[in-house]
Amino acid sequence: MNIILFGPPGAGKGTQAKFLIEKFKIIQISTGDILREEVKLKTDLGISAKNIMDNGDLVPDEIIMSIVEKRLAEPDCKKGFILDGFPRTLNQALELEKILKVQNSEINKIIFIDVDEDILIDRITTRALETSNIREDDNSTILKNRIKIYKKDTKPVLDFYKNMKKLVTVNGMMSIEDVSKAIVKLL
Ligand code: AMP
Repeated sequence: MNIILFGPPGAGKGTQAKFLIEKFKIIQISTGDILREEVKLKTDLGISAKNIMDNGDLVPDEIIMSIVEKRLAEPDCKKGFILDGFPRTLNQALELEKILKVQNSEINKIIFIDVDEDILIDRITTRALETSNIREDDNSTILKNRIKIYKKDTKPVLDFYKNMKKLVTVNGMMSIEDVSKAIVKLL
């Protein structure tokens, strides 16, 4: 089962992905996590991505696609995967289709965690206060930019999968447990 978890920043994609990898014994591919690791290791990729990420902008598609293509070629993806934070542009979604076609594979479902955009700022501010591992991009100016980019560049990806009849929507305003239950029901 190959799944995309989709939603605005702060929708709870990462939290739900952790639950699903346990439940279905499949792997999570988070482009954000991979990029943060590169930043930490100060690789060339990490150094060039850091400023972009700190501003809440999107890392160029070519960089993202080379990360994803490499990761999807690894054998542990064969049993199924959850994409979290990817695709974030229509171009990334189209490129993903090409990669999967070559691998004789496909996306089975895209789960849209729908959250009222007004509460996102509150949620991420709380995440920043509660975690000891504070993300540089969890502050309100940058968050506003991330939401703006989500609306402009990322939301069109929803229509792409809607047309392919692969999109299912979950109400992301419920408790974490109820969102998890709703997702399991849909899969
Ligand atoms: P995330 O952890 O998914 O919120 O990602 C953190 C940051 O990494 C984003 O704000 C972007 O700067 C970058 N990033 C992660 N995934 C992508 C992607 N698919 N396309 C472009 N930039 C990305």
